[in-house]
Amino acid sequence: MTSVEPAPSISGATEAAVAAAHERYRAARPRSAAQAEAAAAVLPGGSTRSVLDFAPFPFRVARADGAHLHDVDGHTYLDLLGDYTAGLLGHNPPEVAAAVVAVTERGWSLGAVAEDEHRLAELITSRFASMAQMRFTNSGTEANLMAISLARHTTGRTKVLVFDGAYHGGLLYFGAGGEALRMPFDYVHATYNDSRSVAEVFERHGAEIACVLVEPMMGAGGGIQGTPAFLAALRQTCRDHGALLVFDEVMTSRMSIGGAQGWLGITPDITTLGKYLGGGMTFGAFGASAELMAAFDPARGGTLTHGGTFNNNAITMRAGVAAVEQILTADALDGLFARGERLRAGLTDVIGTRPYTVTGWGSILGVHATGGPVSSPADLAGVDPLRAELLFHHLLDRGIYIARRGFIALSLPVTDADLDRAVEAVDHAITTIER
Ligand code: PLP
Repeated sequence: MTSVEPAPSISGATEAAVAAAHERYRAARPRSAAQAEAAAAVLPGGSTRSVLDFAPFPFRVARADGAHLHDVDGHTYLDLLGDYTAGLLGHNPPEVAAAVVAVTERGWSLGAVAEDEHRLAELITSRFASMAQMRFTNSGTEANLMAISLARHTTGRTKVLVFDGAYHGGLLYFGAGGEALRMPFDYVHATYNDSRSVAEVFERHGAEIACVLVEPMMGAGGGIQGTPAFLAALRQTCRDHGALLVFDEVMTSRMSIGGAQGWLGITPDITTLGKYLGGGMTFGAFGASAELMAAFDPARGGTLTHGGTFNNNAITMRAGVAAVEQILTADALDGLFARGERLRAGLTDVIGTRPYTVTGWGSILGVHATGGPVSSPADLAGVDPLRAELLFHHLLDRGIYIARRGFIALSLPVTDADLDRAVEAVDHAITTIER
């Protein structure tokens, strides 16, 4: 339980209330403050993953277990961020820890092939309908870059249809500010959940579009679920125009044992994966039909070489096998999905008519300081940054960690009691902010 001071005396979503929240946070975390300052001398912004930054500085973790993080200042947080979905297994699952220890005893950085690699591929391809064959990468970003490149190579076309506000990795961000680091493919843009905007782009560029890259639910884009009708229409439009449909399931693969595609009954041409499927180790993958993946197989006339020193890194391969075989059962994933739906219903209920909206699907949620409905990232333009900042800090005060932007991703160790506590804390925070 955290030991931060009681609720602030300044109320309302004002600059002064935010300043008071920051001061309260800072005063309770002198060790984290000192580490943040030292880190900023050698790491721009004090860390190496921009999304983890928040004001006045992110707390420093001393250790983690189950659904909890413990910081160097003695605070414990219920971890509802779940490492932006990569932490689905929770902290330190013993099955994965044992697998990692076994690899350290056998040897790693082999520069050679070991059985775990094809075992993990067997386990994953048996789950996702679109993936008869697959390749591993080091990250979800890389998986998407490979998927786009495979689509362009296969179709002989250049254009890639993406949705405004989408995030497909550090080099594939289609929101404001993403331009400078965006890989320079030939993009055309449409609006998420808007089949008419897709049809218009295809009318103009249909014969040049190699693929549509889409998340079945926009994760970083705000936890915005694609409607089944929108996604089914995308499937059909791609077929009609000879373009390949790429489902980025880096986040949504958790929706069922067969991913979001299994849940929806929509099979894309190429699927990309990432996050937790490597047991919490660095991971990415892409896969498709054997026919498409033949592009990487010299024995079948494939001409693409796929490099990556750590594609088959020994620890990820063994940890992934342990996680998929022993932990990620259909029941476990369905239970997590149900807990997410329960949390969303509870939060929506306590928010009532106050100016906040809960979005998401299954165990991924977005809590936004704006009225709904939200069907594409443009609908989040009205988020009140002061309310959002206060909500985040009020939850930290009560020992609950979510993303600064309101993103929540449940992990397996999160209990029903934890969910009740989260609902109560959000209610209390909003009541404090709005009084
Ligand atoms: N695609 C989606 C939908 C993501 O959410 C992310 C990361 O958050 C990525 C791709 C990139 O994955 P990685 O961070 O492993 O490169």
